[in-house]
Amino acid sequence: MLVIEHLTKKYGDKKAVDDLSLHILPGEIYGFIGHNGAGKTTTLKCIAGILRFEEGSILIDGHSIVNNPLECKRKLAYIPDNPDLYDFMTGIKYLNFIADIFKIPALERKELIKKYGDLFELTKDLAQPVATYSHGMKQKLAIISALIHKPKLIIMDEPFVGLDPKVSHTMKKLMREHCDNGGAIFFSTHVLEVAEKLCDKIAIIKNGKLVKAGTMEEVKGDESLESVFLELED
Ligand code: ATP
Repeated sequence: MLVIEHLTKKYGDKKAVDDLSLHILPGEIYGFIGHNGAGKTTTLKCIAGILRFEEGSILIDGHSIVNNPLECKRKLAYIPDNPDLYDFMTGIKYLNFIADIFKIPALERKELIKKYGDLFELTKDLAQPVATYSHGMKQKLAIISALIHKPKLIIMDEPFVGLDPKVSHTMKKLMREHCDNGGAIFFSTHVLEVAEKLCDKIAIIKNGKLVKAGTMEEVKGDESLESVFLELED
């Protein structure tokens, strides 16, 4: 579903991501962990087609993000850590705007907006302007806007920050459902307990380089993910 080969991204002379290769299969929830400034957001933005990169390739469902960005963007959703939504729109207007871009038929979008709006308890707020939303409400709107176009691959940057425990629980259930239905998820997090419970596989990045990747068992063995992470950081 997602094939990253020898990805290198520089800011000036500094390599933020250095020769990173990762394969994410359909059905996998793949966690991405690393210290502040390790290169997680940069990698996620390269996958989403937001940042250009110097070397390597990224394929989404067989399509290159460099050569065929539109096809890739049809298949993926990127949920940033701080969603920058259009404040002047109401929630429902924003969702319809996204549904228009992805050409979601009227009946289907109505059903999906109702389903996810209710699940995230945002339906009653959809008539309000985004400018009046709290951080968590904006995040929920960004999540719903990602889910309504039925992406195969979901890329998320710190998805649990700012979500209350109930919403986090809903989110985890939806993530598992998405992957059980053949989708894939790649997400960054600093919450190692969540990663440990939720992820099928995990990748650890340090100073732009991949230091460990594989199934949770392969990466941590009998230790906790926190101990493995802290050992690798030393
Ligand atoms: P965090 O956990 O703090 O969000 P991260 O792993 O997501 O960190 P990145 O944001 O990808 O890390 O940053 C990787 C490196 O690239 C850091 O050293 C950062 O200072 C640098 N960097 C990120 N964005 C830019 C930019 N726009 N210009 C220059 N350097 C940048």
